[in-house]
Amino acid sequence: MTMNRPAPADRRIDNTNKQNQKASGKKKETSFFRRFILFLLVAALGLGILTGSLYYLDQKGDLSFLQDRFSSGNSSKKKTGSYFKKNKDSSRDGEEENDENSTGGYLLAKGSGDGDLSGYTIILDPGHGGRDTGCCYPFNNPDYYECEFNLRIANEIKDELVDRGATVYLLRTDNSWISLYNRLAQVHLICLDIAEEEGKLPFSSSRADELRDLLQVCIDVNEDTVASGGMGIMVGSGVGEDLEDLMEMEYKLDNVLFLSVHMNSSESMSLHGTQIYYVTDDSIIESEHRQMSTNSEFQRSDFPLRDDYYGRNNEDNYLLACCLYDNIVGNLPELETNGHPTNEDNYAVLREHGLTGALIEVAFLTDSDDRNLLLSDSNVSVVANSVCDGVEMYYKNK
Ligand SMILES: [Zn+2]
Repeated sequence: MTMNRPAPADRRIDNTNKQNQKASGKKKETSFFRRFILFLLVAALGLGILTGSLYYLDQKGDLSFLQDRFSSGNSSKKKTGSYFKKNKDSSRDGEEENDENSTGGYLLAKGSGDGDLSGYTIILDPGHGGRDTGCCYPFNNPDYYECEFNLRIANEIKDELVDRGATVYLLRTDNSWISLYNRLAQVHLICLDIAEEEGKLPFSSSRADELRDLLQVCIDVNEDTVASGGMGIMVGSGVGEDLEDLMEMEYKLDNVLFLSVHMNSSESMSLHGTQIYYVTDDSIIESEHRQMSTNSEFQRSDFPLRDDYYGRNNEDNYLLACCLYDNIVGNLPELETNGHPTNEDNYAVLREHGLTGALIEVAFLTDSDDRNLLLSDSNVSVVANSVCDGVEMYYKNK
């Protein structure tokens, strides 16, 4: 107690100081008040001038130089974000980028608008990433990982598509791990934005916002299991009401394609070359029926088993697969496969949305010729060009 009490001498000094302070206090208060008012006036004047000039420039359409400063591309405008809702929650943009456990971040790159692919949007998915390396070679003590090839090739495809005027969404921009259903949720969110922007929403804006909130669950959970809730509205066989609404919207987005980029692996190391996978209603339904008797996820009591669902653009998916294969192998004959060039299968990354799409197995990482071919930058560039030629051919023949 005594230690905290001030000594009498100190207390006297305190009292003297207080009296002096009281005497000059009013003067100081008045002077501070004046300065504060002056500061407010100057600040208000400055803000007024800035707002006025920005408004004036905006009216004249001269604010583009400001926007360009904040975008990293020269001819293209880029935007990153785990996803962005218009006029809502824009603080998420760019959040958690480069984080191994991040909810993922896509990159949006827009072409100049006068190329052969202007007006078209391609959602590019570099397969795997982070702790999910995809296949590797050699199997023990690997030197090469699929996820790295996928990202390099997808980046090159993105650049070439943008050069041809397309708008590209790249779902993985670094070696982060992103769950499969997180990627799919982002595809739906991107499509909601595109449909809304193009006036193609088949439901109200409030229904779109409701679906956005449901999809955000998958991104936040960033897991793929039924138990974690990471599959969100995409859980179960068949298609639920919410997913059906999204797919119906996506079937009509003719100017949007989905491409997933992968490298293949053959245990016997006997296979080589490019293979393209696509989905059809029949391939999905046949596979789901098969899994009902073998897959433990399907046998959980909380796994919804719904009726079969039809409505996909089967022929479009097949046409796209053919166009991609023909152009890749046409430009790089070494990649002609000794397996099946185009294959119907049930990949979730193609199944859980309604966009026309394909999964490109560019080459076999386990084949030394394939692998060496793709270690060369110029060959990766030829693959990227060929994919773009394939996309152009698809739209010309559709
Ligand atoms: Zn893969």
